[in-house]
Amino acid sequence: MSTAIIRDAVTTYTLSAIEQINGFDTTIDPDLLNAIAHSKREIIVEVPLRRDDGKYVTFRGYRVQHNDARGPFKGGLRFHPTVDLHEARTLAHLMTLKTAVVNIPFGGGKGGIACDPRQLSMRELETLTRNFTNLLSANIGPRVDIPAPDVNTNPQIMAWIADEYSKKHGQSWGVVTGKPLEMGGSVGRDEATGRGVMYATREAAMEIGLNMTDARVIIQGFGNVGSFAARLIEQELGGKIIGISTSLGGIYNKHGIDLERAENHYAQFGNLKDFAGGEWLTNDELLVSDCDILIPAALQKSITKTNAKSIKAKIVVEGANDCTEAEADKILSDRNIFVVPDILANAGGVVVSYFEWVQNLNNHYWGIAQVRGELERIMVSAYNHVSAVAKERRHGMRVASYSVAIERVAKAMILRGM
Ligand code: NAD
Repeated sequence: MSTAIIRDAVTTYTLSAIEQINGFDTTIDPDLLNAIAHSKREIIVEVPLRRDDGKYVTFRGYRVQHNDARGPFKGGLRFHPTVDLHEARTLAHLMTLKTAVVNIPFGGGKGGIACDPRQLSMRELETLTRNFTNLLSANIGPRVDIPAPDVNTNPQIMAWIADEYSKKHGQSWGVVTGKPLEMGGSVGRDEATGRGVMYATREAAMEIGLNMTDARVIIQGFGNVGSFAARLIEQELGGKIIGISTSLGGIYNKHGIDLERAENHYAQFGNLKDFAGGEWLTNDELLVSDCDILIPAALQKSITKTNAKSIKAKIVVEGANDCTEAEADKILSDRNIFVVPDILANAGGVVVSYFEWVQNLNNHYWGIAQVRGELERIMVSAYNHVSAVAKERRHGMRVASYSVAIERVAKAMILRGM
């Protein structure tokens, strides 16, 4: 095992959960619990590419295989200039916890290439992806490690990976998830994370006695997660979306935002500026505006120790990964703001990825009603289990989620004799 230790909020939460488990479950060796903070394998590759102008360049690629005690490593591939080992390690660790807290039979992994895909032609992007796949080919596979889309990667890139891997190993669509429907993708994957956020929001509101009809909701980030969550909270729960934002800023309208018009405006102009249906605010202003529920669904570290003091929401549902700094989390907890943590709230995407993999292995495909029904069952069951542990051990949902996940991983490691 690597001796590298992950840092920041994820470490802080992991250590608090371990401390808590030590107080309740004396059958798990504390050294084993600490070992869960380390990655099992960290792969760095130099990915070659012949550019369109004939020049030869290399890009650094990463795959961190954090833990596979409960099943194959699972997690996204990101193509972005800031991709590095530390980021991949933190996100791989989060994936181990996320798959464990919703109890699907996977471990955690993450990776990507440090590159700016906007600077690459389509041919260059395809060649880079295929070369990366070949370099990882011995270390990934439907029963080993199953990547998926993440920042700047998409179903087309997953199709290239599945095709390249299948050239060596025979048809293996299950090597990646998030594929196009024509190549073994699953219906319902596009909306899955937003739908899971909607279920988490509904359960949290019920738990604190907040009536969802006309509950006022602000969502930071209006991309895949934020826009589906907004629509579904409005359509299926009767909530009122009063704030939405993109990277440039957001709009606020206490009477409710016309989501269809906002989506059309965003699709046309790439931002919400000049959208007539609300008051224009900065992202910082929007986060602390009056509302009942706040859903950060944009970036890491958007809730800071500075803005946490002024957040007005009664519930925060973390659509984005690692979006709350550790000091901010303590402030929210001291202020009795109910937080549904990322590893639980945004797990809907990896749950439907799991369905995609199951469908690929069986070569038998499900309809949308089955995908939604199974997703709801898994999300609600995970929520209820974490909530019961939180009450029993008198902890917030974050530490409870982490401890449920860590205990499951630790028990699998013990049973396997790792
Ligand atoms: P996306 O790229 O589709 O959308 C991101 C949105 O955030 C865009 O509207 C963008 O304009 C906005 N944004 C960017 N910077 C911002 C800023 N500074 N302030 C406010 N808004 C900003 O991404 P996504 O797939 O919706 O993912 C959002 C978050 O959810 C990420 O943290 C991601 O890791 C996490 N997540 C996504 C999935 C998934 O299935 N897509 C699953 C789990 C977690």
